[in-house]
Amino acid sequence: MSAETTYSFFHSVEQSFDKAAKFTTWDSGLLEQIKQCNSVLRMHFPVKVNDKIEVIKAYRVQHSHHKAPCKGGIRYSPEVNLDEVMALAALMTFKCAIVNVPFGGAKGGITIDPKKYTAYDLEKITRRYTAELVKKNFIGPGIDVPAPDYGTGEREMAWIVDTYQSLKPGEIDAAGCVTGKPITQGGVRGRKEATGLGVFFGIREVCNMEDVMKKQGLTVGVVGKRVVVQGLGNVGYHSAKFFREAGSKVIALAEYEGAIFNEDGLNEDEVFQHRKKTGSILNFPGATNLAKSSDALELECDILIPAALENVINGDNAPRVKAKIVGEAANGPCTPEADEEFTRRGILCVPDMYLNAGGVTVSYFEWLKNLSHVRYGRLEKRFAENLNGHILGQIEELSGKTVSKKERDFIMHGPEEQDLVHSGLEETMITATREIMQIWKDNPTIPDMRTAAYVSAINKVAQSYNELGIFP
Ligand code: NAD
Repeated sequence: MSAETTYSFFHSVEQSFDKAAKFTTWDSGLLEQIKQCNSVLRMHFPVKVNDKIEVIKAYRVQHSHHKAPCKGGIRYSPEVNLDEVMALAALMTFKCAIVNVPFGGAKGGITIDPKKYTAYDLEKITRRYTAELVKKNFIGPGIDVPAPDYGTGEREMAWIVDTYQSLKPGEIDAAGCVTGKPITQGGVRGRKEATGLGVFFGIREVCNMEDVMKKQGLTVGVVGKRVVVQGLGNVGYHSAKFFREAGSKVIALAEYEGAIFNEDGLNEDEVFQHRKKTGSILNFPGATNLAKSSDALELECDILIPAALENVINGDNAPRVKAKIVGEAANGPCTPEADEEFTRRGILCVPDMYLNAGGVTVSYFEWLKNLSHVRYGRLEKRFAENLNGHILGQIEELSGKTVSKKERDFIMHGPEEQDLVHSGLEETMITATREIMQIWKDNPTIPDMRTAAYVSAINKVAQSYNELGIFP
């Protein structure tokens, strides 16, 4: 067998787990239990495509039942296999634990290339997959709640909730059986930008830590920081936007066709519109083209945000990375060799497993919205506006001064759904960052922030198992 066929993604997750478990004191049996996938469903079902019966291969893996429900996306890709789904389910357990989202980890996948099917065929496949999950009790607001992943989106989630509801008539909380739905089907406002915003909140918190910044040779705060972003898709675009709005300078942006640089800073939306119009990020007015797209990763900067693909920073180019902080917005952008190089050179790598948890955090808020059957802000918005107006009126009357219109609008504004979702995400990312950094400070022999994040996850899951007790 070639090295390629023997590589196991799940095994590599187990290795990272073992590396971190050494820094904990939990019973070895308990650690073994946490590592394993609790339930694995592998299915084959027939779907008629172009008058021919096609046998579709699909999976759903529930990695951990220490909390209910389980949570994790559904991936449509020809590469989907059991090992990958198991690994991704395990990562979901750890990700949820780190950001204090009370779910066990899960993941699903269908081994198809969605581009080769019509929307009608994809709908049939998705609905049949959902029916299989219902049959096996592998989906439900209190059991297992899927979400979008690679190759799926709002449309598929709408098909899933509709199929579930038709098979479970009268189930009052049925909308909570899946997240990432369109707003009209019970989705939540603020999800689209959630991952990029979470990346920003996480890095901003790191930048606000005086001791950490001192170690990196940087000033406190994100204002004026020079940021490079790879990938101008959903996560990269929104990461760049929130950094720019907070006063950082996005000095370079990279897409697969090339990269551009401007020391004075780039506006991600103008670059996005330019790319839409011309078909390329290159030749953006006022910016310099870089010879190779990957050159952007090696630029002198404070913060590097890889937000495109996995394995882009590896043993090869990591020695040339000059950033002081690498924020893993994408999943797995840095290889273990890159990690070692960063540790050696004191580059702080903020790990994907928690940094890009904005999506699952806001999914949690969507699920809560579905269970409460009320839009966030509906009850308090008007009340807050009336109260704020009253307080402001009193202050103005007593002081004899009036505030500007801009200030008035800001003070008066009652919270809407998006405001509350953003605020909940901010709280989540700040808390998780502080918890991980505290673990690292308490044990300086932990080699990197990724291992500290794993330790945080292991401690929380183990504690939960411990408190539940193990059945005799
Ligand atoms: P996306 O498809 O919207 O964007 C990815 C962008 O990267 C595209 O614009 C693509 O053209 C660009 N790209 C591809 N190859 C490139 C290269 N070699 N150099 C530079 N740019 C390149 O995807 P996304 O949703 O933004 O996800 C990006 C990463 O973030 C993925 O690793 C994904 O798994 C991870 N992630 C996404 C979310 C989410 O909510 N979308 C959540 C967690 C993690």
